[in-house]
Amino acid sequence: MTRAGLYAAAAVLLAAGATGAVAAGCQKEPSFEAWLANVKKEAAASGVSAGTISTALAGVRFDPSIVAKDRAQKVFAQTFLEFSDRMVAGYRLKTGAAKIAALKPLFQKIEKKYGVPAPVIVAFWGLETDFGANIGNLPTLVSVATLAYDCRRPDVFRPQLIDALKVIDRGDLTADQMRGPWAGELGQLQFLPSHYLDYGVDFDGDGKVNLLTSTADVLASGANLLAAHGWQRGQPWIQEVKVPPNLPWQEADLAIQHPRSQWAAWGVTYASGKPIPSDGVPASILLPMGRNGPAFLAYKNFLVYLEWNSSLVYSTTAAYFATRLAGAGPVTRGDPPPGLTLAQGKELQNLLAKRGYDIGVADGIIGLKTRAAVKAMQIKFKMPADSYPTAELIAKLRGG
Ligand code: CA
Repeated sequence: MTRAGLYAAAAVLLAAGATGAVAAGCQKEPSFEAWLANVKKEAAASGVSAGTISTALAGVRFDPSIVAKDRAQKVFAQTFLEFSDRMVAGYRLKTGAAKIAALKPLFQKIEKKYGVPAPVIVAFWGLETDFGANIGNLPTLVSVATLAYDCRRPDVFRPQLIDALKVIDRGDLTADQMRGPWAGELGQLQFLPSHYLDYGVDFDGDGKVNLLTSTADVLASGANLLAAHGWQRGQPWIQEVKVPPNLPWQEADLAIQHPRSQWAAWGVTYASGKPIPSDGVPASILLPMGRNGPAFLAYKNFLVYLEWNSSLVYSTTAAYFATRLAGAGPVTRGDPPPGLTLAQGKELQNLLAKRGYDIGVADGIIGLKTRAAVKAMQIKFKMPADSYPTAELIAKLRGG
């Protein structure tokens, strides 16, 4: 929901250097100045003080270099193993563990209040900004105003601009302090201004929500956002498992939950081979790279990851990183087929769309919608329905 798309852009669709496409002239009438005058009226109507509106927006201009960065975003198709190999590298595991140890009393206080354990928060912290090291230094109001005026996603960014003004009006940050990457995210967990406003908490008690430099505010706000989206205290998020070669693959789907007793009866064990509890706790089987790749039991808490970032690869990586910080070993890699190239992914999505499936935008990135369509076609073709697309499936789809 909330962060969908934007956060995928931040983390999984890596921004390439500002080469290639230039800012196309799709900024429409009225002029930026006339448009900004309208924004000021809207901000006033939604309760932002006149003082904040005039001071915060005084230096705001249209910045074509922001649009150029937006257009130059290069999309990489990455599998779970490719992304997690890169992101859950040794130094991040080491730094994450050191942060958990160094901030133990703070994390205890946060878990007591929000129910979210340290490894879960620290994994997001590491993935988003390398634990606060890379939070960006561009003026956020210029970036967000530019993207709100630009024609590509005004409906996403105009509310972000109003909410950024509300954050300033609340006294959390000055307009000058409000700096980050080009797409408007803020602080050590890269909250969009709307999330800053809605989920940011003052946990160090200085009266301001400072998600840029207050470690306590940053980490508690992350926990608050997860709790608000349904995080269940004391419950796991994912656990690595081993799946038998004859699992009914169509049951391995995030949309389907069974009690662990059912998975146990089908032969699912922990990765170590130890039995999983044969109880009524509901869980899905998550196979990010299909039946021959890594396998996880995914609990209700994993669905909260998808609220943070709708990308399955990002979410699985963040959840896996957290299990590593909580003491689990490296994932069993298995022998999954190679991931599709971007061109293959686009062809697959176009072939599925032609058959009437809703795959979203045919961008080559295999998300949950595409996986659902893949599964439906695997069932039609009587292939193992593990939702993971392969070149073999594309060949069958081409053949009609
Ligand atoms: Ca504070």
